[in-house]
Amino acid sequence: MGLIVQKYGGSSVADAASIKRVAKRITEAKRAGDDVVVVVSAMGDTTDELVDLAHQISPMPPSREMDILLTAGERISMSLLAMAIANLGVEAQSFTGQQAGVITDEAHGRARIIDVKASRIRKALDAGAVAIVAGFQGVTEHTNDVTTLGRGGSDTTAVAIAAAIGANVCEIYTDVDGVFTADPRIVPNARKLDRITYEEMLDMAASGAKVLMLRCVEYARRNNVPIHVRSSFSGHLGTMVTDDPIEGDVPMEQPIISGVAHDRSEAKITVVGVPDVPGTAAQIFEIVAGAEVNIDMIVQNVSAAATGLTDISFTLPAADGQKAMAALHAMQSTVGFASLQYDDTIGKLSLIGAGMRSHPGVSAKLFGALRDASINIEMISTSEIRVSVVTRADQLDDAVRAVHTAFGLDSDEDEAVVYGGTGR
Ligand code: ADP
Ligand code: ASP
Ligand code: MG
Repeated sequence: MGLIVQKYGGSSVADAASIKRVAKRITEAKRAGDDVVVVVSAMGDTTDELVDLAHQISPMPPSREMDILLTAGERISMSLLAMAIANLGVEAQSFTGQQAGVITDEAHGRARIIDVKASRIRKALDAGAVAIVAGFQGVTEHTNDVTTLGRGGSDTTAVAIAAAIGANVCEIYTDVDGVFTADPRIVPNARKLDRITYEEMLDMAASGAKVLMLRCVEYARRNNVPIHVRSSFSGHLGTMVTDDPIEGDVPMEQPIISGVAHDRSEAKITVVGVPDVPGTAAQIFEIVAGAEVNIDMIVQNVSAAATGLTDISFTLPAADGQKAMAALHAMQSTVGFASLQYDDTIGKLSLIGAGMRSHPGVSAKLFGALRDASINIEMISTSEIRVSVVTRADQLDDAVRAVHTAFGLDSDEDEAVVYGGTGR
């Protein structure tokens, strides 16, 4: 008998019929003899709709209230799912994040899980019930305030609970058959990976492949929780995220490239006419850091000899764009730059693969593929196992497809199936 955590994403529980379908799947696992803890996301695009609603009320909603609002989405789906399971003759008890003992820090909207006190979950399992936990939410240790873990956070809830109760595996059920070499919504002939290492999955997630939340992969790696990403709409085996070899692995055949990720959520700020003297870059990025904005890529131009001025561009989450612009504007005369430009029509493509470490020429091939597709590169950054480029947003899909083909990643089998979801 095993102990498994199953997480169902929003598109898997989008309506009443889907909830019933998922309930059937859960009771089958339970009847097969496993103890099952289920983590569930809000139905369909509920979270986005709640965010939109809040912004109709207030342009900058207080983060504490925003968190209470957003946790409502997962409470709706958890209780409906428990009802659906009960209808199939299996006992189920649903728990909010707080009831399930998910303790977080106090960073509303992006809280980190610091502990899972799983006694209530264990009690439910001991009583023979399926425990259903609302994903994406927790409670602060001292003030008892409700928090959320950031978008896509139910993945992290699932892995944290799997680690806390020592589950054999954390199954992430979604609307595609696993982790593919690129988003199947953009590249229909993307190939499903049977296995991906934590390190590669971390870079995929950090580069925009939202099939798993970045923090969930970090948590899984730290606690050595194997993740099985698979579809709730099919019976196919999905992708194992683990450093351990799986059945069918061919040793010594490390692929050079594991995938192409894309990200449309970033913006670019250019600080124009910056005095090219020691200390200005420090000043600029201290201002941005002071606004609590994380930056991604940075490019500094060669300074014009005649003027001693240069331009510095950097990318950041578009959601933080106005905050960063306001902080920089406020310090314009102190830093002495000429002006600021804001551009949220950029896209980022990243090529990821642990095999890059030992294979020269990966960047050259990437740039060549983009040249052949007439796509201009605006910024470049590299790490040991990743090369990222910024392009125009409206060229990003073409760029992803061109690079996917150039690196021989296209599958000659059936097209990847996208079973549901709106891609929002
Ligand atoms: P859920 O609601 O189940 O959490 P998400 O929308 O968060 O689902 O994540 C699943 C989506 O991730 C897929 O529908 C797909 O469009 C997208 N995605 C992006 N990159 C990849 C990738 N490399 N492999 C699989 N899916 C990907
Ligand atoms: N419902 C939350 C979101 O849409 C959390 C999740 O789905 O993982 O971001
Ligand atoms: Mg998700």
